[in-house]
Amino acid sequence: MSKNHFGLVVHGGAGTMDRSAMTPEREQIFRAALEQSLKAGFAILQRGGSSLEAVETAVRVLEDDPHFNAGKGAVFTSAGTHQLDASIMDGKTLKAGAVMGVEHIKNPISLARLVMEKSSNVALEGAGAEAFAKENGVALVDQKYFFTQERWDAWQRIKEAAKGGDGKQFILSDQDKHGTVGAVALDQAGNLAAATSTGGTTNKPPGRVGDSPIIGAGTYANDATCAVSATGDGEYFIRANAAHDISALVEYRGLSVEEASRTVLAKVEKLGGTGGVIVIDRKGNMALPFNTSGMYRGHVDQNGKFVTEIYH
Ligand code: ASP
Repeated sequence: MSKNHFGLVVHGGAGTMDRSAMTPEREQIFRAALEQSLKAGFAILQRGGSSLEAVETAVRVLEDDPHFNAGKGAVFTSAGTHQLDASIMDGKTLKAGAVMGVEHIKNPISLARLVMEKSSNVALEGAGAEAFAKENGVALVDQKYFFTQERWDAWQRIKEAAKGGDGKQFILSDQDKHGTVGAVALDQAGNLAAATSTGGTTNKPPGRVGDSPIIGAGTYANDATCAVSATGDGEYFIRANAAHDISALVEYRGLSVEEASRTVLAKVEKLGGTGGVIVIDRKGNMALPFNTSGMYRGHVDQNGKFVTEIYH
């Protein structure tokens, strides 16, 4: 047993998932996408690549997949636009990068990494982030690139529901709301990294920023503790400082990643928030708890067994 431990966990969003609305074909599409993401990250880790490279790559695969609410397939804002958020963190250096509300970036996670590596800042927003992208040779895409009929239809449904009700409580299907993506990894050198990318919430007001690009809320990584990526009602994850809180429980209370993530998720739930997190620690221990009926998720370790799941 001289094998070095490594591992990768990915998620594609958590939410109320109506099992009856999920056909075997649809389930297969999601599981195949998660597996493709895992395989891309696994290949990097297996050949001794960094956890940072692995999480960026795994997230890019899901950003490019129109079924997830990140990159292509991002949801619509109330203005009928797309505004994307992403962040990445390197557990070895505690360096982090984030972009918020970008509208013309095909792979926000890669721009977040560029912010981390090529700027002296942690987060860049909107037009400033896109100017930075241009300066660094990142091609901008038209808003049309992000369009999918499914997200458009969902937006119409939400606007309809908003007209009838009090404007706040919409009954939406999982496909209407969810699909944020994220990845956490441990590499053979023992370094951790985390990445999260999203289109945010459907019909959000322009300018709204969720937890995904906020370091400590939706994303956190520290080699001394663990790497975390969250999905769910962003406002609650921000208020709970969820991702960093998990790391803090590991650091200061010596909790396992399983105990720490469940504790913090209970805190989020008490505030009224739903969602889930994926976590991995230095030893390769993984936790994937969620308080919704489902979370698109998958994991793989050094043994190369790919596991993908949706429901409890
Ligand atoms: N957390 C994301 C946000 O609030 C949404 C999600 O994960 O479904 O932007």
